[in-house]
Amino acid sequence: MKLTNSLKRSLWVFHFNSGSCNGCDIEIVASLMPRYDPERFGIKLVGSPRHADVLLVTGPVVHAMADRLRRVYEQTPDPKVVICVGACGQSGGAFFDSYNLDGPVGEVIPVDVYVPGCAPRPEAIIYGVVKAIAKLERLMGDKR
Ligand code: SF4
Repeated sequence: MKLTNSLKRSLWVFHFNSGSCNGCDIEIVASLMPRYDPERFGIKLVGSPRHADVLLVTGPVVHAMADRLRRVYEQTPDPKVVICVGACGQSGGAFFDSYNLDGPVGEVIPVDVYVPGCAPRPEAIIYGVVKAIAKLERLMGDKR
């Protein structure tokens, strides 16, 4: 797949845990290891949403994190793509009927790419990032 047409720079990703059990987060770390080495394509995690092209969200959205997630979404510059990793972010997953949830991620901020699974394998997470690149290229093409 051709990764860079309108996207002529490295893809930077900000990871946000909105209430995950950390299973999805461990798989994200596994996807960054030398076995897959996405950094050879310039894909890396950054420490601030202000520097990111992609917001990678794990977990359902617990009440204490809902406003933070909205703020991080607003801080991520346009055009941006949101990837929701794991069943909890899609539907609430194992925590779907918890008193403490503000909802799945899609009920709090717009989501572009869903990566299903509990927890998704690194290959699935990387495939989600490839989908995000394609979406970002379309968005950047629309802005021309
Ligand atoms: S999808 Fe599974 S691994 Fe990921 S946060 Fe939910 S329970 Fe944990």
